[in-house]
Amino acid sequence: MRQVVIAGASLAATHAIEALRQEGFQGDITLIGAEPHLPYDRPPLSKVALRHGPDTSELLLRAPQWYAEHAVDLRLGQPAAALDTRARHVTLEDGTEVPYDGLIIATGSQPRTLAHTASCAPVYTLRTLDDCQALHDRLVPGRHMVVVGGGFIGLEVASTARQMGLDVSVVEMAPAPLTRVLGDEVGHWFSKYHESNGVRLHCGSVIDGMEPGTRGTKVSLLDNVSLSADLVVAGVGARPATDWLEGSGVPLSDGVLCDAGLRTAAPGVVAAGDIARWYNPLFDEEMRVEQWSNAVEQGRHAAAALLGADDPYASVPYFWSDQFDAKTRFVGRANAAEHVHIERSEDSSLVALFGRDGVIRGALCVNAPRQLAVYRKAILDRIPWGDVVANDG
Ligand SMILES: Cc1cc2nc3c(=O)[nH]c(=O)nc-3n(C[C@H](O)[C@H](O)[C@H](O)COP(=O)(O)OP(=O)(O)OC[C@H]3O[C@@H](n4cnc5c(N)ncnc54)[C@H](O)[C@@H]3O)c2cc1C
Repeated sequence: MRQVVIAGASLAATHAIEALRQEGFQGDITLIGAEPHLPYDRPPLSKVALRHGPDTSELLLRAPQWYAEHAVDLRLGQPAAALDTRARHVTLEDGTEVPYDGLIIATGSQPRTLAHTASCAPVYTLRTLDDCQALHDRLVPGRHMVVVGGGFIGLEVASTARQMGLDVSVVEMAPAPLTRVLGDEVGHWFSKYHESNGVRLHCGSVIDGMEPGTRGTKVSLLDNVSLSADLVVAGVGARPATDWLEGSGVPLSDGVLCDAGLRTAAPGVVAAGDIARWYNPLFDEEMRVEQWSNAVEQGRHAAAALLGADDPYASVPYFWSDQFDAKTRFVGRANAAEHVHIERSEDSSLVALFGRDGVIRGALCVNAPRQLAVYRKAILDRIPWGDVVANDG
């Protein structure tokens, strides 16, 4: 293999480059990125960087000279527009064709947007450094911000803005934030926690419309409530950035479909990070995971797969979220849990376990770091659900 191209210049890509060079790959590496910036870290964008304003030099994943040291040909500010898997080249937006022997698809995900926004002030989303700067500039104490969507990013933005002295309301369709994935008890704990920190929650509520209002935007909810917002932020999830792959022959289904080793059906094409949907043998489940540590590990794994490694990517997913003083850590999977067991619920800490098919599959620990490692091991060892719950008693 002479030429490796990586599409998407972010977390998975950086770790793929590192792995390629560590494994002794001496051919060309071309990194294609839609944004003008060198790869940077996203988790701070809803936390410290949103609060103080993003400082590019602090957010960079690698120092600028690192790319020269690793002999990377950077093509930034130039999105990949199409892929030809027969001729083996990526076409950039300006028409340049970049040939490859091996391609790593790592274009990540992009925020979903809201309907109802045509006639009103901009609705902010948060994915990029530029989004973070634009939102930070509007976070003025005393202003009223409405966050649509009570997922992790919406709740982190709410928490940051509240700590900066804004008045914050969160509108969530479900009876409580996070219930869709983590269930009612966990959702209600987060409701109470945010309310105790001064966030107003409108749960079980759906947006009926938005129009220009006295403060900027009038947000009408279906239950006849209307909110006056200086700014509106949509935190309604993300979708994989696969548009440029339509018609390429790479199978897509809510992400790039890969086998257990992160290889796609197209020869010489692998995928990694938020965009990859793969079969995880540890959970006997096809999954796509939008989490930091997954992008790191998959970047490395996909690089090794290109160089001929054959092992499956079998991992216990892990993510964290910081809201006010609550440090949330999650291992495993909570989706379609048959059992949810609340092991501890206090004002500022929570431990919840998730079981399915007779074994523990997931654990959520808020301000309870020690338990996390124990439950990670229990998930890996497929400890029976009855044993885990009995031991907690
Ligand atoms: C605000 C925010 C907070 C987060 N907080 C946490 C957290 O606390 N904990 C956690 O575990 N995870 C968190 N995450 C998730 C984590 O950052 C992602 O899982 C991770 O960034 C995924 O890395 P990636 O390389 O797969 O994709 P991304 O980081 O999404 O990068 C993909 C890159 O590809 C580029 N791109 C897109 N289309 C094209 C194209 N056609 N051509 C070229 N380039 C393209 C994009 O511009 C982007 O730079 C957060 C994410 C966000 C947005």
